[in-house]
Amino acid sequence: MATSTGSAFACVKCGSDRIKSLKLVHEDGFMRNLSGTTGVAVSRGGVAVGAATTKGVSQSETSRRYAPPATPQTTSLFAQALFFALILALIIAYVASNSPWMLLVAVPVAVWVYVKVRRSTVVSNAREQSRYSEAMGAWERSYLCERCGQVFAL
Ligand SMILES: [Zn+2]
Repeated sequence: MATSTGSAFACVKCGSDRIKSLKLVHEDGFMRNLSGTTGVAVSRGGVAVGAATTKGVSQSETSRRYAPPATPQTTSLFAQALFFALILALIIAYVASNSPWMLLVAVPVAVWVYVKVRRSTVVSNAREQSRYSEAMGAWERSYLCERCGQVFAL
């Protein structure tokens, strides 16, 4: 439903006021398939024919195309910490079996590696997160013209 009011909300290409936010386009594409069987479903955004539904919900092609950006691929700090804690334990066990004195070297080295890896994970996670919120912000400001198909930001 193009809920545009006033001339401020119009397609930048053709000037039509039949515009719709990508958010709505996306949400409208999801239709309840009450019977749970396949069939033809028509939405304002497109047609989903014989969609193989898994959870009783089908999504139109249009909806899929204007889906929001994928959630960020961040690395779990806990998983990383666990991984390096295991390596640390192995290094210590190995080195200590040859010479207990080597523990004095192994422990600080392992800790240093752990801190380094953790820091770089934090940085890359933050970068991925900001990339995501930027893409999400752009998506939320985007509109689709139902007349000419132009996608633009408002
Ligand atoms: Zn247009």
